[in-house]
Amino acid sequence: MEFATKAIHVGQDAEPITGATIVPIFQTSTYTQSAPGVHKGYDYSRTVNPTRVALERCLASLENAEYGSCFASGMAATSAVCNMLSAGDHVVVGDDLYGGTFRLFDKVFKRYGVRFDYVDASSSENVAAAITAATKLVWLETPTNPLLKLCDLRVIGALCKERGVRVAVDNTFATPFLQNPLDLGADFVVHSTTKYIGGHSDTVGGFVGTNDKTLHDIVKFHQNAVGGIPGPFDCFLTLRGVKTLAVRMREHERHARAVAAYLDGHPSVERVYYPGLPSHPQHELAKRQMRGFGGMVSCVLKGGPARARAFASAVRVFSLAESLGGVESLLCHPVSMTHGSIPKEIREARGVTDNLLRFSVGIEAESDIIADIEQALAAV
Ligand SMILES: *Cc1c(COP(=O)(O)O)cnc(C)c1O
Repeated sequence: MEFATKAIHVGQDAEPITGATIVPIFQTSTYTQSAPGVHKGYDYSRTVNPTRVALERCLASLENAEYGSCFASGMAATSAVCNMLSAGDHVVVGDDLYGGTFRLFDKVFKRYGVRFDYVDASSSENVAAAITAATKLVWLETPTNPLLKLCDLRVIGALCKERGVRVAVDNTFATPFLQNPLDLGADFVVHSTTKYIGGHSDTVGGFVGTNDKTLHDIVKFHQNAVGGIPGPFDCFLTLRGVKTLAVRMREHERHARAVAAYLDGHPSVERVYYPGLPSHPQHELAKRQMRGFGGMVSCVLKGGPARARAFASAVRVFSLAESLGGVESLLCHPVSMTHGSIPKEIREARGVTDNLLRFSVGIEAESDIIADIEQALAAV
């Protein structure tokens, strides 16, 4: 079955009692048993809920995963993978990382005795060099936020397999439509379904997929034992959103290419970051590893540090907002929004400067999106 068909049908058979075509919101915490211990596979909704099961099956199929588990947020999903770690374990982390993930590692799991080392994973040798006898997990994002750097999942997957280290990939930016990390050698794929998968900026959620039964059992155990589950209504909204992921991603990408092309070479723009531009240092890797280049574009404006801030206040079609992946175009000024908590020297050394802007290019009319950028550049 093709991607677009799976997104609409997998896990979503007609409801057996009524024939309801759309998976209902099973807003129940418990299930009546016909005799003690005799039930239909559902006993308590922290453990299992039919609306959640439908979403888990659907997302697993999109990631070519045997098993899937849904969570209350992307952070709860990330946390569930980390629950397999114990004190003394070591994790190698790609350093251009979602801020909330850094906070979870640095402020929560570090206190439990797990050790984290951060490397520039766009060079696979850096990852190899950081692995020690205590390393249990490598945590990667590709493309990264906000600089859209890639790491080579095939190479890193193979070198980790050789050394018995598990690889988890946060695939939120690429989406399963453009990239399937498990097919490239990862052991876990993780999503914030809040972004492209939900796609309408109206619900928060997370997902973990794997092909390894042992790893799945560990994630499932912690999903139930820790309890970071999504409610049935959130699962329903995410399932409704994911049905259109294929058509949305095609539009996001088409518009992002147009935005990148418009910004590239514009006299007010110093540099554009987009894996689809031949000038991107990992354009060839992007072509090998992904089925498209995605809907996120970043750029650095020329001029003084106030210029990007002024631009961010001048846009009208774009909403100045954190988050990404919704149908609406969103603009982020990383230094004052998502990346403000990173110390200035570290931030700037990584290229996150005052004049950096990040566009989550939406699916409004392309002409309106470009015209908005044009008028905002003219205004500053
Ligand atoms: C948003 C995001 C997360 C966190 O997900 P939440 O659903 O907000 O908890 C993790 N990773 C990436 C890449 C994200 O963009």
